Amino acid sequence: MNAYVASVIDYVKQAHGNEPEFVQTVEEVLSSVSPIMDAHPEYEKVDLLKRMVEPERMFTFRVCWMDDKGEYHTNRGWRCQFNGAIGPYKGGLRFQKNVYEGIIKFLGFEQTFKNSLTGLPMGGAKGGSDFDPAGKSDAEVMRFCQSFMTALYRYIGPDIDVPAGDMGVGGREIGYLYGQYRRLKGVWENGVLTGKGMTYGGSLIRPEATGYGAVYYLQEVLKHENDTIEGKRIAISGYGNVAWGIMRKATELGAKVTYFSGPDGYIYDPDGVDIKKVMDIKQKRRARISVYADEVPGSEYHEGRKGIWTLKCDIAMPCASQNEMDADDVQHLIDNGCMAVFEGANMPLTPEAIEKVLGNGLLYSPGKASNAGGVATSGLEMSQNSIRMSWSFDEVDEKLHGIMKNIFKACYDASVECGQPGNLMLGANVAGCLKVADAMMAQGVV
Ligand code: GLU
Repeated sequence: MNAYVASVIDYVKQAHGNEPEFVQTVEEVLSSVSPIMDAHPEYEKVDLLKRMVEPERMFTFRVCWMDDKGEYHTNRGWRCQFNGAIGPYKGGLRFQKNVYEGIIKFLGFEQTFKNSLTGLPMGGAKGGSDFDPAGKSDAEVMRFCQSFMTALYRYIGPDIDVPAGDMGVGGREIGYLYGQYRRLKGVWENGVLTGKGMTYGGSLIRPEATGYGAVYYLQEVLKHENDTIEGKRIAISGYGNVAWGIMRKATELGAKVTYFSGPDGYIYDPDGVDIKKVMDIKQKRRARISVYADEVPGSEYHEGRKGIWTLKCDIAMPCASQNEMDADDVQHLIDNGCMAVFEGANMPLTPEAIEKVLGNGLLYSPGKASNAGGVATSGLEMSQNSIRMSWSFDEVDEKLHGIMKNIFKACYDASVECGQPGNLMLGANVAGCLKVADAMMAQGVV
């Protein structure tokens, strides 16, 4: 490994030893770009990587709110504006019990390179709270979102920083957040958030964009291998918007999704999943997935979310959470003849799992490439808000499709330049990182 890269990784390990997820992503990205550092001594000269692993700024704030019983709660909120070299800071908000600084920083770092890969002018950011939305009423979620935005509104804006959804933050939360932003600012600046409802400036396709994008990316990879998605059996972990976007597009293109999972178990539906039912359970009723088996004849619910990777599938798409798939899961997939692992979530594979996937010649794509369709469509939503127009479903879909094709090309070309054709992890990290690095170089030491 390049000595400068190794020294920055060591520094991050020492300085952020209590943030393992952040250390993990830094190590993955920097190890990938190590070969190009030899060819670019100018980066080391200005200590570029050390600046790249340091967020430009990060806010921590208090979020207090009252529940329906009149009891008071205080949560912690964060926004990390990681890198603004190529555009306004951009990235989602995650509301989940286990959120802390390390998760927000890992997501902000990944987002920087993902956004760069889209080819759109968006810097990297992430935010969120340790608020647990499970079991909260609409009124409680509204009061929480209003309090969260009251702390955040002065640091964001359509040309400053544009949050969106992530785990625990969907259309309902974005609506409450925008309402409070508008009340506090007294201006119509709907480009400040993406993932909005259609009645106040949302974009068609945004809700399903991450899943659609992942399938478009998968199609490109398979085309390159002289293969097609038709007839492939796909297993998906998770049942949020990424998962149902994949279910819908993959099914439309002739693949069969027979398995999906939630936090406590998985569903097997031999007829192929009923996507409307999945959306109804998750979005409208916010219920557990076992309800699916109660209501769809012929389907089965099995306890244990890990079980999903022990089943036969051609393509595995982990779409739930970071580090959800380990080396043992990959071994089960290999034993069952699986040919590809495509990440729908951010960093769902442990480093050992990635090693096993690559070592056994499976096709593999990291989330920052294959799940970039969501934020890419957020970028398209920002464009529509700026020009005060709405594009049709087909227009947005065509642009998204074009972006995913370009991402594949950029990743593949970079893998060739690095002498490892087809290593899309390497390609994604190098292509995403170089653009940000060059923009930072051009803007001087800031
Ligand atoms: N949270 C999504 C992601 O991980 C979307 C972010 C956005 O649309 O800004 O890319």
